[in-house]
Amino acid sequence: MKKLMERLKSMAGRKRVKTGGESAQSVVYITDTLLAETGRLIASFAEGRESEGVVYWFGFELGGRAVVTTLIVPDADTSHGCISTSPEANGEALGVIVGTPLVLLGQAHSHPGERVRHSPVDDRETFARFDGGLSVVIPHFARRGVDLSRCGVHRHVNGAFKFIRPERVGEHVVVVPGQADLRREQEGRIRKEKANVVS
Ligand SMILES: [Zn+2]
Repeated sequence: MKKLMERLKSMAGRKRVKTGGESAQSVVYITDTLLAETGRLIASFAEGRESEGVVYWFGFELGGRAVVTTLIVPDADTSHGCISTSPEANGEALGVIVGTPLVLLGQAHSHPGERVRHSPVDDRETFARFDGGLSVVIPHFARRGVDLSRCGVHRHVNGAFKFIRPERVGEHVVVVPGQADLRREQEGRIRKEKANVVS
């Protein structure tokens, strides 16, 4: 067990490739569908009660880009309305990706009101505390969905979390389309009718 925990820890705290003396900071891409699902999962912590919630973001890291593919909700303790995750709960979350090429990219958690800056506890206890780790704070328990421009984006740089100014958020996290349905019902029907005529 101890060995497994050590291995999991090294997976979470892996070192990034450094370029020119500066730590490499991948741009993290997430689809709008996974971002919305992140909000739904976090808001589910606050169903019928006032509770913060948390979701870990896993995915691929390819050169200077990272892509979120997987959302994992750890078995967090929320009995006091704020989140706390034990090493065992974090180990269990990392266990899901064992044997895959996925890595921990960051996490999102909620705050009760509009304040979206890290608290000192967030700075100390956020799980994604490795160089390049991303931490997004969603306001209002994520009950109003996730609008990145209203979230607090933090990045772990040189051993500490740094709040990213809104105008620079696009250098750290980018939302891309996850799904589109471009059917036009009318045209679809016409095509179908034509197809029926031919056959
Ligand atoms: Zn917090």
